[in-house]
Amino acid sequence: MTYFEFTKRFPTQEDAINFIVDTKYPNNQYVCPKCGAVHTKIYHQKYDTRKLYCNNCKSEFSALKDTIFENTHLDVRMWLYAINLIIISRKGISALQLKRELGMKAYNSAWRMMQQIRKAMAKEEMKEVFEAIVEIDESYTGGKPRKEGIAN
Ligand SMILES: [Zn+2]
Repeated sequence: MTYFEFTKRFPTQEDAINFIVDTKYPNNQYVCPKCGAVHTKIYHQKYDTRKLYCNNCKSEFSALKDTIFENTHLDVRMWLYAINLIIISRKGISALQLKRELGMKAYNSAWRMMQQIRKAMAKEEMKEVFEAIVEIDESYTGGKPRKEGIAN
């Protein structure tokens, strides 16, 4: 998807986090890593949407656990947009291009981000997230074009 489409789909970082959580926990089901309680509803911490809350043992944990977004200090939308760019660029994208597109200051950060995304793409855990981004992209580009002029 283009940058414009992306910002329409993810106007805030919260939208990006919710998207990852929804993809990671289908049917809103998640297990507390501390006490093992099974939740069927997502409880975000009010002060930080990156954290989920367990109403059984009252502990909190990262909503982005076991993903490449878990320990990032960057806006999660930068990561999603980077993934989107890597997916849609047929010829591949360089770390330099990524740095420019995301407006990052350091080439090294862009390079590391790219390595992490590529590594994660090869693994199974984040498959759902990547597939979901591909789906969004296809909804913009893959649909059959409307036949104009037929309906007079
Ligand atoms: Zn718990």
